Amino acid sequence: MISVRGVRKGYADGAQHILVLDGIDLEVPGGASVALTGPSGSGKSTLLNILAGTLAADAGEVLLSAAGEPFALHALGEAQRTRVRRSHIGYVHQFFNLVPTLTVLENVLMPAYLNGVLDGACRERAARLLAEIGLDARSHAFPDTLSGGEQQRVAVLRALLLRPAVVLADEPTGNLDAQNSAQVAAMLFAAARETGASLVVATHSGEVAAMADHEFRLNKLAAPAS
Ligand code: ADP
Ligand code: MG
Repeated sequence: MISVRGVRKGYADGAQHILVLDGIDLEVPGGASVALTGPSGSGKSTLLNILAGTLAADAGEVLLSAAGEPFALHALGEAQRTRVRRSHIGYVHQFFNLVPTLTVLENVLMPAYLNGVLDGACRERAARLLAEIGLDARSHAFPDTLSGGEQQRVAVLRALLLRPAVVLADEPTGNLDAQNSAQVAAMLFAAARETGASLVVATHSGEVAAMADHEFRLNKLAAPAS
């Protein structure tokens, strides 16, 4: 579960301070999905980064419940947030972000490796997930030999390998054609539902947004008078 209360975030821009998020409240129960929409520059990536713990909010609370344990991200330091992220958060990027020097299978197994939980059961799960999306024959290929749609499906498997309580995706279909976009989105929503994850997907696609249980729209805040 994700619970965001009163989150505020701004950036320094020269002498000015640009406020991007102002009093965000958002609840995403386990197994539920939210489409994060709004124009470019409205703060979708900023909010996702705050949920992922890669960015600290200026004010407000970010609470995650994972594996029966509560985590108050806003009260944790960077090292602790990194630990929570590694164990409990899956992240899907717009440009896939697979490691080019690792094979498809090694990319999927990466979260298990980083968490020191890479065992036979993990390898079996990774192989089964790759077979389910028809990419088992490409397990030992390198990512750059796969199409964009295939790479993004591998990235989704990587994000879901450890059944994280929270899955975040930043315009995951923004770089895909309509057919691949539909496939990747369907896979992402189904996987989150099956594993009981809370899913937040930033998207410009009406089709993708319509697949979510709820839509959360961000507005671009007015620039300060100069
Ligand atoms: P979105 O993902 O909705 O396009 P972002 O969260 O990327 O929006 O950006 C929101 C606003 O914050 C934009 O005006 C952007 O220029 C600004 N911004 C984002 N990151 C930084 C940063 N590191 N430093 C300064 N301004 C930033
Ligand atoms: Mg963005």
